[in-house]
Amino acid sequence: MAGQGSSQGFERVSIERLVAPLRAVLSIAIAAAEAEGWQLYLVGGGVRDLILAEGMVGLSDLDLVVDGVVGAGVKLAKALQERYPEVKLEIHGKFQTAALTWNGDPVLGDLSMDLATARTERYEYPAANPVVVASSIELDLFRRDFSVNAMALRLTSPGAGEVLDFYHGMEDLAARELRVLHDRSFVDDPTRIFRGARFAARFGFEFESRTRALFEAAIGSGIYEQSRAEHGKVPALQARLKSELKYIFQSPHWKSALRILIDLEALQCIHPSLNTRDCLDAAGLRRLWRSWCRMEVWMRDFGLGLGWQGMVEVLVASCARDEVNPAVELRLEAGAIDRLTQLPEIEAEILKSLQPGALPSQVYQVLRAYDEMSLILVAARSDDPWRCQIWKYLTQYRSVKPLLSGQDLKSLGYPAGKTFKLMLHQVLMATLDGVICDRDEAIGFCRTIGSPLTPNSGGT
Ligand code: ATP
Repeated sequence: MAGQGSSQGFERVSIERLVAPLRAVLSIAIAAAEAEGWQLYLVGGGVRDLILAEGMVGLSDLDLVVDGVVGAGVKLAKALQERYPEVKLEIHGKFQTAALTWNGDPVLGDLSMDLATARTERYEYPAANPVVVASSIELDLFRRDFSVNAMALRLTSPGAGEVLDFYHGMEDLAARELRVLHDRSFVDDPTRIFRGARFAARFGFEFESRTRALFEAAIGSGIYEQSRAEHGKVPALQARLKSELKYIFQSPHWKSALRILIDLEALQCIHPSLNTRDCLDAAGLRRLWRSWCRMEVWMRDFGLGLGWQGMVEVLVASCARDEVNPAVELRLEAGAIDRLTQLPEIEAEILKSLQPGALPSQVYQVLRAYDEMSLILVAARSDDPWRCQIWKYLTQYRSVKPLLSGQDLKSLGYPAGKTFKLMLHQVLMATLDGVICDRDEAIGFCRTIGSPLTPNSGGT
């Protein structure tokens, strides 16, 4: 870890290790804050990443907090806008949090920066959106998810470089542990467990034992279900949980994060039907896990880009066998909900029509009736041989082209017309089954079958 102790007993972290363009941006905000006599802090993940990293650090988002003055963030943001006129500025809420975004800037890339006034929050019911009130930096840090994300690095003088670490984030970083700051943390906001899984997977951290127990207690108490029943719309169990799933599936560590969520039985926060303990025994869990590992191989090796929403669909399809409710809770798009609604029926049709050991041409003929995403969903929840057949169809069979074209048939003397289509289809089927491998064999094959409309073919 790169934090250094100082003679005054503070941990100190230098922003000199931030890459130069970020330092340049910060120096403008620092000068504007110092001119007003405000204290400005870098908070949250940026501090964590600066402490953890060795060498120079580039950050794609910066969270800055000004201690005390409502609207201060907007003033600092405007000072930055003068220097970077192309930056987009948005102002949110009664605390006038300023959000700056650079879009494809040649030097700063897609940097985003939040400038807020120190504030604290309270939750009116479990998993509600918080009610926010102005506060000190200490309380602002106390509202955060894990101690490692609850440190502030003072940017302004006097005291620039000091790390405010009221909740022992440094110790937890050293111990590689994720620890919540208070007992109600998960009751207030279940998205924190999904964030925790993402951080644990990304940094290789563990949940500290009390933190884990607090989460298990929150889940076991049925508090989220109760909240859903009483309030209907529960933001932290819907839109915000969906955003967390998006971050998880966009991360290269998604598989480990998902494993952590499954181990913690945390998916049931989304909906009780995703209670992996009740719906899957140990063998079922292993199967689910293998299915995800294969899915990753498919995506990597065969370019089946699902995107994060597709991955959420796969998650729902593979854990909740007959239910579409998790997709509804997460407000997935209508197409996804329709697909998941029809899935049991499509799955039953495919499993009925595909015999183990079916020829590639038979697999092709059955599966071509379905769209790619539905097939991926069926594959995610089926065993071999069906999964393997679907995999082969998606990654091989469907891109096989007939060895002859309509033009070829014409020059071979076959009369043009709808028979061409049937012949080309037969050529394709024979190619898939390995009966013919090149153009000459395809021509020979056509001679043997003749035209499907001629008497010797037997076709009609
Ligand atoms: P990343 O590197 O993935 O962006 P981050 O820690 O910067 O990680 P953000 O989502 O940008 O994550 O959040 C910034 C900070 O806001 C966090 O470090 C944390 O202090 C706080 N925070 C974000 N979400 C929550 C939450 N649900 N509950 C409490 N604090 C949160």
